[in-house]
Amino acid sequence: MTDASSRRIDLPLVDHHCHGVVDAELSEAEFRDLATESGWPAPAGTDSLDSPFGLAVRRFCAPVLGLEPNAPVNEYLAHRRSIGAVEANSLLLRSTGTSDYLLDTGIRDARLPDPAAMAVRADARVREIVRIESLAEDLASESTAAGFVAKFPETLAARTREAVGVKSIIAYRHGFDIPAERPSGREVLQAADEWFRTAEGSGSFRVTDPVLLRFGLWSGIDTGLPVQLHTGYGDSDVQLFRADPSRLNPLFRATRSLGIDFMLLHCYPFIREAGILAQVFPHVYLDVGLVSHYLGPSAGTAIRQAMEVAPFSKILYSSDSYGLAEHYAVSAASWRTSFAALMDGWIASGWATADDAERIASMVGSENARRVYNLNP
Ligand SMILES: [Zn+2]
Repeated sequence: MTDASSRRIDLPLVDHHCHGVVDAELSEAEFRDLATESGWPAPAGTDSLDSPFGLAVRRFCAPVLGLEPNAPVNEYLAHRRSIGAVEANSLLLRSTGTSDYLLDTGIRDARLPDPAAMAVRADARVREIVRIESLAEDLASESTAAGFVAKFPETLAARTREAVGVKSIIAYRHGFDIPAERPSGREVLQAADEWFRTAEGSGSFRVTDPVLLRFGLWSGIDTGLPVQLHTGYGDSDVQLFRADPSRLNPLFRATRSLGIDFMLLHCYPFIREAGILAQVFPHVYLDVGLVSHYLGPSAGTAIRQAMEVAPFSKILYSSDSYGLAEHYAVSAASWRTSFAALMDGWIASGWATADDAERIASMVGSENARRVYNLNP
């Protein structure tokens, strides 16, 4: 307990939001592309891995693959290629000590594994989270406007029979400034007509209409499963100020007694707003996935902020990893060391006993997710 920097919390983690690893060999450009939320190459003469995440890869992942800690990025990438992506992914995933992954299968990237393939690669249990908007777009491409409106709720219900949750990216496609109420049947039909008319011209069913997005969200609420909401930080599609979760206050008030839970994902930079919502509303939870790896040396700040005001039963671990096994390895190692340092501080200053610290770490690391998603084997 005395040397906080070298101590880590060792307990099996439940990663309640992630997207899977790419098993194909990645070029350096593809690796760098997956190592940032930017959709564009770094400016000429600069390296996107000269970043907090780059430092974290060198610190935490280099030793897992058999290199010295802090090995240079180019040496790391060359070594990764020499052992092969499959072997590197296995080593990095197994270094995380994750027992269960909840996989959001809604990203359209053919390189990503399905839950069964991910379970093999990670040697862990994998359960599915169904992304509402992706399913809506798939269904729309093979129906009429009226057919879509009639069939979507039952299609989602059928698709989630084996899943443990649903996810909405309404923050990306519109924002959280939405009315609290379920849209009326007439409104939905009108919006769907317009959607299909536009799609005929553009050939794309990308859903951005707020009425249709709310229709999807309420269909998700109707499944009774936990509803994950992308919150805050993401790629350049996100209009950050509209992804502030405090804008969801009316929806949370309207849904408080429905018996469903909302999981605020990532939350950065609105971690404190999310923490307040998780304290105030009994059915709201938060995590700091994504920044658990992208903040590198500063990840501890996000973890500390997440732990400021919400009850410990409302905070979950996730990595929000996408594509790179390095995301998983960094998020887990970073969470384990930062959480240990935080708990050591609480113990040293008399705020908690060692037993308290262990219990709190286990709630956040796995137990809360097991309870909310009903994951008990
Ligand atoms: Zn995600």
